[in-house]
Amino acid sequence: MHVCWLVSKDRTCQRIKLPHFEMVVIGRGPETEITDKKCSRRQVQLKADCNKGYVKVKQIGVNPTSIDLVDIGKDQEIKLKPGQVLHIVNKLYPYTVQFWNEMGACVGREAAEPKAEKRPQDESENNNVESMPGKHAKMDPQGCASCFELNDGNSSVCSCESSSSTMVGLQYWTQGLKVSMKNPAMQVYKDDKAVAIKDKYPKARYHWLVLPWQPISALSAVTQEHLELLEHLHAVGEMIIQQCPEKDTLRFRLGYHAIPSLSHLHLHVISQDFDSEWFKTKRHWNSFTTGYFFDSKDVIMMVKKKGRVTVDKNTPELLKLPLKCHVCKQQQKTIPQLKEHLKKHWPK
Ligand code: AMP
Ligand code: ZN
Repeated sequence: MHVCWLVSKDRTCQRIKLPHFEMVVIGRGPETEITDKKCSRRQVQLKADCNKGYVKVKQIGVNPTSIDLVDIGKDQEIKLKPGQVLHIVNKLYPYTVQFWNEMGACVGREAAEPKAEKRPQDESENNNVESMPGKHAKMDPQGCASCFELNDGNSSVCSCESSSSTMVGLQYWTQGLKVSMKNPAMQVYKDDKAVAIKDKYPKARYHWLVLPWQPISALSAVTQEHLELLEHLHAVGEMIIQQCPEKDTLRFRLGYHAIPSLSHLHLHVISQDFDSEWFKTKRHWNSFTTGYFFDSKDVIMMVKKKGRVTVDKNTPELLKLPLKCHVCKQQQKTIPQLKEHLKKHWPK
């Protein structure tokens, strides 16, 4: 179930919760901080439909309430969708609506518990290839995607025997985000330009992915015309962090993998505790803590300056670097040792 929020666009007043299918009336008063006498105390009636993703808005007050600058009319009702702007009265006091997945607001700890998710034989992620047995360990990082996907928790037997099944599985696997981004159960936020989902295999207590609806395959396809979109993805990421119950004690990074494994551009929003069962390999660690991880702000800067994102040809080598704590830079010999060490840096 999603929750709906009415969020002021120009003021810092509290957002207003619109519970699913409940009538909420707002106007002049402490909730909106509107003191303007032209605004009735009961100016607009709102009813959110969290399944359909809109809010029905009825103007009750005498002076005009509008959506995208079109007056609703007294006692008339219009649907308000994400991306549209509701002016409470006389084209003033703009608000927008946001739909959030209630689970998503506190994803992370829960999602990181192995019991909370079906646990694959190994996670359905080609980052993890080095921990695969036998021939898989020797394969190209892309090579074993098939059996990762096909086994997905249901079997411990690898099924990628033939190259054709590997290719089918690989193709299927690399498209996984496109499926997840459309799945309401995975979504924590959406608007007309972007959607944020929980990472299916979170590498930290809080790990989300923000994706544009526009089909951009990867950073390599990004050009100057996507600048506004990149900024929007970043803003959505920041907004999600603001909803996080541990936002004041945990540090977050927003960024992209230089060489992503999955298709469809995705911004990682990840807390820096790396307290997760899904974080298992050197590749995982180095992909989030070395130059393999491009900070979102740097990406935006690079696109502004150069018009595109360039990746150094030695970037894949970064994944093989020794394990180094991202906080105190102390080197650790093994993943279990690193995991134990990281606890020192967790907030008390
Ligand atoms: P990358 O492509 O390396 O930037 O990262 C892909 C991310 O997607 C990883 O953090 C995975 O844990 C995550 N992931 C893999 N499959 C899915 C899926 N089907 N839905 C959501 N997240 C996924
Ligand atoms: Zn350290």
